[in-house]
Amino acid sequence: MAPPMSAASFLAALKDEGLTVVEVGDWRHHNRNSKGAWGPVNGVMIHHTVTEGSSATVRICRDGHTDLPGPLCHGVITKDGRVHLVGYGRANHAGLGDDDVLRAVIAEKALPHDNEANTDGNSRFYGFECENLGDGEDPWPDAQLVAIEKAAAALCRHHGWTERSVIGHLEWQPGKVDPKGFTMAWLRGRVRDRLK
Ligand SMILES: [Zn+2]
Repeated sequence: MAPPMSAASFLAALKDEGLTVVEVGDWRHHNRNSKGAWGPVNGVMIHHTVTEGSSATVRICRDGHTDLPGPLCHGVITKDGRVHLVGYGRANHAGLGDDDVLRAVIAEKALPHDNEANTDGNSRFYGFECENLGDGEDPWPDAQLVAIEKAAAALCRHHGWTERSVIGHLEWQPGKVDPKGFTMAWLRGRVRDRLK
């Protein structure tokens, strides 16, 4: 459990990990903080967008839609491996998830199956939306996968977390399937190796 990093530290951590970062508009102050808590933070959540085209994907994640206002994450990782910062603070990405999963993340233990939606995840997780159709066929380019690994590792490094603090939306909220196309166990292995 930790207070969220400042926007400046967040940006610096991503750059220090070797990422190409694009700052979109006034991302530092675009958030949902008026609607609820932001922090303490416990981990990093990975999503896929079910969108096509990088500029449309970034726009949607920044603005959201009528029934789900943006920002829909903090960073959007496009297929070219760039990280587009669209918001900072509370973001509409994690929704309600399982308190048993949150306890496992905090304890950095193996995750139980998510079978409850009783806990606000938007206050607890940094969120990265990754450009992909989420149909299991749309490819995940190497550049994008490396960027996901680096982004997750950067935040773990800052907070002193292990790879177990990196989870997929599908591990948090019953009914979610994202990210689809690689396993979170595989991604955590990559993050673990990077943090060594
Ligand atoms: Zn998601």
